[in-house]
Order: sequence, then structure tokens, then C-alpha cells
Amino acid sequence: MKRPPSGVLTMTAPVSVIRPSTMKSWVGALFLAGVFGAAGGAAQDRVLVLEGGTLIDGTGRNPVPDSVIVVQGTRIKAVGTRGQLSYPPTGTIIKLDGRTILPGLIDGHVHLREYQLPMFLPYGVTTIADIHNDTAWSIAQRDALRSGRIRGPRLFVSGARVTGPLGAPTTDGSYVRTVDEARAYVRTLAAAGVDHIKVDLTITGEQLRAVIEEANARGLRALGHTQDIRKAVAMGFKHMEHTDTMARSLLAQAGKEIPRGSSPEAIVDPKLFPPLIDYLVKQGVYVNPTLVLVWGASTERWRDWTATKAQIVNDPGLAFVPADAKAAWTREPGPARAGYANVAVFLRQYAEAGGKVLAATDTGIPPIVPGLSLHEEMRMLTDTGIPPMRALQGATLWAAEVIGRDKDLGSVEPGKLADFTVIEGNPLADIRATTRVRMVIKGGEVMETAYDPKWVNPIPRPGGNGR
Ligand SMILES: [Zn+2]
Repeated sequence: MKRPPSGVLTMTAPVSVIRPSTMKSWVGALFLAGVFGAAGGAAQDRVLVLEGGTLIDGTGRNPVPDSVIVVQGTRIKAVGTRGQLSYPPTGTIIKLDGRTILPGLIDGHVHLREYQLPMFLPYGVTTIADIHNDTAWSIAQRDALRSGRIRGPRLFVSGARVTGPLGAPTTDGSYVRTVDEARAYVRTLAAAGVDHIKVDLTITGEQLRAVIEEANARGLRALGHTQDIRKAVAMGFKHMEHTDTMARSLLAQAGKEIPRGSSPEAIVDPKLFPPLIDYLVKQGVYVNPTLVLVWGASTERWRDWTATKAQIVNDPGLAFVPADAKAAWTREPGPARAGYANVAVFLRQYAEAGGKVLAATDTGIPPIVPGLSLHEEMRMLTDTGIPPMRALQGATLWAAEVIGRDKDLGSVEPGKLADFTVIEGNPLADIRATTRVRMVIKGGEVMETAYDPKWVNPIPRPGGNGR
């Protein structure tokens, strides 16, 4: 492809559109020739300038109106404001007046399914972390994304989680009976090339300690489910997945039994929260409550999402999504789980104490819509009283930190990879603005985000599509 002339591209206001797939006509007319083509030049020298948008950079700092972001090649070279920052006249300039620029969004809790990869970029999700999947397949997906064989987000993977004697034996090679087997399994995963380790709550405390040690010795983070978050954190664990583990921890401390069939969150006494929160915050624990999955049915949110989901399942662009996956998105949720009010109090107090709460979705569990669910999760975080700025950080910088990728990802700062999600509206006033995605840039390239209805994953997943 011939290198296009440099020039100024002005973003005209599109109509208010929630369906990302309709971006095609709009992006196509203005940008296909100019910006997508820019990828064909000398990639390392290519200069892209984002000019005039309001920048929310992921660090929690105040928004920067009239910002200028200079990208060279795949990385951010400079960040400033119009008039204050100069840049070479040879670059491609994208005018973003009236738009808000966020770091590319990160969903740090995914169990990737065969059909899902095309659904992340249209929702502004430029990075996902898989925490439990078929090991060889997820590594192959990651590598196919990296090489450009598949277009989609950046992917980091755990391979199959570590499972153990507190649960029924698993058959995927992840079942470890002893501490030594746990160590050996982590070494096997590391040798296979995973990016982090995922644990299940079926391993014993001694096994968890060994897993953390083996993982950390290889520069890998251990993430996942635990029986008792206080005990896990005392061993060096920094991730709280779901909220049952904090409730079990407090109930054990109070000497309380959990009645059969009730959720520990429903019977825990919120008066016990502050000391535990204080400890977890001091230890730098990232909390991933998975609100949409676990607590969506306990709130009005499921009703709110119904219309959006009904529209999505009829999108002809999504013809590549299996019918049973679509049916699961729109199915009525089961009965409301008791305990939401306590969880909301815990999360709000955690954020007020300076703790980092992640927006990360458990995509891969059938009712969760890939991409869209990250926006729903941010909204449910703000429902608990967490400020929108912190909800955004939970889907950007903190999401990068918890998987050890914050050197490259998660915020708009010089030296980092040039991943941006450009939206319409002010998400600090109304977090729903994040769904109005207008442009997605990954590694300094404006991404094509229209769906290909005939898309087929070139690498079949064991267990098949949709599952
Ligand atoms: Zn999960």
C-alpha cells in the first residue's frame, strides 16, 4: 500500500449509536483511506497525533481538556495540550474536539470462547486477560492475535487453573494432589509460556503458598479464587476474585457456620468490614467482584440491559455467534442472590479506603456479553457509590497492574503502547458514556471494528464453539 499523504482529519459528529458495528459506515468514509492506510508506511516512524479531545488518562488525574497526544510507531511519545506541545508536521492528525479519550479498556477476567474475539475492539476493549482456559488453545489464540493472524485485542493467558483436593478431581491436567504436584504444575504452565497463574479455591493453603512462590519466582502473578482472602493475602496473594472469599474469611473469624444453600455475603456482618478492608488495602489487594455475573440479578440492572441485548442478538453482523450463546445473553436470570447490599457496602468502603476495585467480567460464562459487559460492570461499580473515575481505573490502569502489564498498558503516558478508546460524552458525569465508542486505536493503529458476519476462528477450541 502506498503511504498516504499526511493531513488533518476532522471527526464529524456521528449520530448517537450504541451498536459498535454501525461505526463502519462512519469510519469508512472518513478514515479508511487515510488512517488505516497509515499502517502500510514505515511503522516505526509513523506519527499519529490525537488533537483536541478531553483526555482521561487512567491514572486518576483530572481530565485534560484540549489535549494533544503524539504517537510514534506503536507507542505514545508525548502527552500535553494544544499550543503547549509541538509535533512534526508530517504526521497524521486526528481532530478529536468534543470527544473523550480513554486508555484502551482492559477486561482482566475472561474465559475466552471460540466465537468471542471480534466482540472486544468494537466496545473499546483493547486488552483481555484470560484466567482459566484450555492451556494450549489459549496460548495459540494469544500468539495468533500477536502475529496479526486474528484481529482483536491483546490477550494474556493463564492456561488451565490450578485445581486441588478440596474439590472433585478435574480431567484437564490441572488437578494437583500435593504441594509438590502444585509446584510441578506451575512449572509446567510457565514452561508452556503462560503470562500469569490462576488458582481455584479447591487447593489447600499449603498448595496456594507453593503456587504463589513458584509463580513469583518466574515473574508471574497468581490470581483467582481463594477460600479465605485474609489467609491468602498473608501468603502474598494480591487478587480477590468474587466476594465470597472475604465473607467466608469474616465468618470464620467470627466462628460462624454458613448454613447450607445461603451465600456467605448474605450473613456476614458489615461491621466486621473495616479492619479487613484496612488490611487488604495496605497489602495492595485488587478486588474483582464480578458484579454483573454474580449480582446483576439482585438489582434492577438486568432489566435495563434487556433492550440492548435484544438489539445485539438481532445484529446481522453477529451472525458468526452461535445461537445458543446469543440465547444465553438474553435468558432471564435466575433468582436474586441474597447479600448484594453487603457487597455494595464492602466495595464502597474499599474504594473510600483507597483500595483498587477492578471492573472485570468473567466473560465466557454464558450470560455475559463479551465487550459490552465491561461497560455494564463499570456501571454496577458506580451503583455501589464508587466514583466513575475509579471505575474507569478499574478497567484500565489497575487492570494492567494486576496482571503485571502496567509498564506498557493501562494509562495514556509517554512510553506506553498507544491504545486508546475514543468515546462521545463525559463518563465522569455518566459512566454510560463509555458505551458510545467512536474510535479504537491499538498500538498506534486505528482499528477496523465492523463485524464480519462470516468470521470463523482459524484455531478451533477443544470443546467447540460457544462453549
Ligand atoms: Zn472466572
